[in-house]
Amino acid sequence: MATPISTVMSPARYVQGKDAITRVGEFVAPIGTRPLIVADDVVWGIVEAAVTESFWSADLPVERVGFGRFATPEAVDELVEHIAAKDADVIVGLGGGSAIDAAKAAGHLAGIRWASVPTAASTDAPTSALAVIYTAEGEFIEYRFFPHNPDLVLIDTRLVANAPVQFLVAGIGDALATWVEARAAKRANADTMAGGLQTETGVALAELSWKLLHENALQAIEAVKAKVVTPALEKVVEANTLLSGLGFESGGLAAAHAIHNGLTAAPQAHGLAHGQKVNIGTIAQLVLEGAPAEEIEDFVVFTTKVGLPNTLTEIGLTVDDRDVLRAVAEAATVEGETIHNMPFPVTPELVVDALVAIEGIARSIRAEHGLPEPVLYEHH
Ligand SMILES: [Zn+2]
Repeated sequence: MATPISTVMSPARYVQGKDAITRVGEFVAPIGTRPLIVADDVVWGIVEAAVTESFWSADLPVERVGFGRFATPEAVDELVEHIAAKDADVIVGLGGGSAIDAAKAAGHLAGIRWASVPTAASTDAPTSALAVIYTAEGEFIEYRFFPHNPDLVLIDTRLVANAPVQFLVAGIGDALATWVEARAAKRANADTMAGGLQTETGVALAELSWKLLHENALQAIEAVKAKVVTPALEKVVEANTLLSGLGFESGGLAAAHAIHNGLTAAPQAHGLAHGQKVNIGTIAQLVLEGAPAEEIEDFVVFTTKVGLPNTLTEIGLTVDDRDVLRAVAEAATVEGETIHNMPFPVTPELVVDALVAIEGIARSIRAEHGLPEPVLYEHH
């Protein structure tokens, strides 16, 4: 067995700010001279002018390939072919988490460097050294791990402010899980996604993400609704993108993300964002680990105000969907899943019970606080 070590991984550079996209060329140039941009048509329509001007002033050519909906094995392989055809030496994932993850995976396979330029703060994918690979229907297949993080993560907070508010809300869901999972991994002295034991740094960053979100998320949501950039929004963007990424990778994942991965197998929940499903994983983990009632109450109240789902109803399920819940729980507890980083053994039965329990718990807390009843999610 290898000598136990503690380790932290991070991107080589993180850049955040209003209009940061206008300086993307300046930060990509030191990484490579023949960049290949991966962006879908919608994203490219929004940023083409700014990126082109910035690349040209940095003497970089502008080569862009389109992208579909999910980081599938086929989409990744196609990007590897584009890299070879263009002789690119750096791949720039531009847009949402899927384009960014696909760019990372392709860059790794092709043996070139990679950069993440998210246009929304909807997941922590841009920061990490791993990609989540899905089927064309959005079902979880696998994590792919890389030996290093992106050479650059650049996020423009004006773009975040102009993106749909549900993107920011989903990112808050993804980031709220980070501390809850890192804390559980700490109790278990589990290995992290970075391939070693936790450091104090990884755990502290996860906790900082939690703190910043509690203090700033509601204000940041209002800022995005008004399409303005405020200090609260800057803090939430950093929590969602950088701190959550560093915190999950070097702090450890546990039940919340494993339950998310299980939920991708439920057709009823298709179409929901990563962070929305993760939030169900987080509330289920709190119930599973027997968290104090006050903590669960705070979590339900806060995430309801934020607009995240915390009941089965809001992900298209009911307590009577036992077969679906059983399949979710089986998928969440397969060998190698991060649920086994919990400080106690977790069986599918325990996961089903936790998922069933959240419905009544969240409904009663919401009623007690005068918060709206959950609305059934219907996937079309
Ligand atoms: Zn996540």
